[in-house]
Amino acid sequence: MAKSKFEYVRLFETEDRCLPNSWIVVRVDGKGFHKFSTEHDYEKPNDMRALSLMNKAATSVMEEFKDICLAYGQSDEYSFVFRKETQVYSRRSAKLSTNVCSLFTSAFVYYWSEHFPSSKPLYPPVFDGRTVLYPSNQNIRDYLSWRQADCHINNLYNTTFWALILKAGLTPGEAEQKLKGTLSGDKNEILFSQFSINYNKEPEMLRKGTILVRRKVPVALPDGSGTREKSQIVQLYTDVIGDEFWNENNHLLTI
Ligand code: ATP
Ligand code: ATP
Ligand code: MG
Ligand code: MG
Ligand code: MG
Repeated sequence: MAKSKFEYVRLFETEDRCLPNSWIVVRVDGKGFHKFSTEHDYEKPNDMRALSLMNKAATSVMEEFKDICLAYGQSDEYSFVFRKETQVYSRRSAKLSTNVCSLFTSAFVYYWSEHFPSSKPLYPPVFDGRTVLYPSNQNIRDYLSWRQADCHINNLYNTTFWALILKAGLTPGEAEQKLKGTLSGDKNEILFSQFSINYNKEPEMLRKGTILVRRKVPVALPDGSGTREKSQIVQLYTDVIGDEFWNENNHLLTI
C-alpha cells in the first residue's frame, strides 16, 4: 500500500513488548469503588452479587483470551496470568492491558442487570489496568500470595469494622478508632466474643478470594453415545500461598 507523507508519525510510538519467557500479569481494579459501591447500594462488608458479577466478567475475559491460564479476584480487582510463552498481540504491554481491561469493564456492565436486577448502573464503572512481568515461578507465586494475603487482611478488617457499625451501633469513626493498632488475633477475638462470629467459618470466597482455572470436564455427546472432554473455567476458593494448590495444579507452572 502506498505510504503517505504522514506515515512517519508512527515512529513516535514506543516499543512496549514484554520480555520473552516471563509470566505476564494484567491486573484491573475499579476506580473509586469505595464510592461506586456505596452509591450502588452494595451490602457491607461483602456484596455477594458484586463478587459474582466480578467473577462473571473475569470468566468472559478468560473465554476470549485462551492464553490466560489462571485469574485471581477479590474486592474490586482481578489479576489475569498469561502463560509464559504467549504471543498474543506480540506481547505488547498496552495492547494486553487495554484489551483485557476494556473487555472486563464491558462485561461488567453487560451482566450488571443479571446480578443487580432492581438497580440500574447510576453511572458507568471505570477500571484501570496494568501489565506486570514476573520472570520466575517463585515471583508469580509470590505475586498471587501477595494478593491473597491482601484479601485476608482487608476482609478481616472489614468484617470486624462493619460488625461494630451494623451490630454494635458504633459510628464509622468510632469503629476505626477501636480497630486502630489491633492485630489479627485482636480482631478475631472481637468478632468471637462480641458477635459470636468465628472468622474461620466465614465463606471461603470472602476469606480467600476467587481463583479461576481451566479444567477438563466430561460432557455428554449429543447422540448419547458417551462423553467427551471439554475445557471449562471453574471457580476455586482455596489457599494459593502454601504448596498444596501448586502440587495439585503442577501443570500451571510447568507449561
Ligand atoms: P481506587 O480508585 O484507588 O482503586 P477504590 O475506592 O476503588 O479507589 P480500593 O482500594 O480499590 O479503593 O477498594 C475498593 C473498595 O470497593 C473497597 O474498599 C470496598 O469499599 C468496595 N467494594 C469492592 N467490592 C465490594 C463488595 N463486593 N462488597 C462491598 N464493597 C465492595
Ligand atoms: P484490530 O483488532 O487489529 O484493530 P480491526 O478489524 O478492528 O482489527 P481496524 O484497522 O481497527 O481493524 O479497522 C476497523 C474496521 O472496522 C474497519 O476496517 C471496518 O471494517 C470496520 N468499521 C469500523 N467502524 C465502522 C463503521 N462505522 N462502519 C462500518 N464499518 C466500520
Ligand atoms: Mg479500586
Ligand atoms: Mg481495589
Ligand atoms: Mg480495530
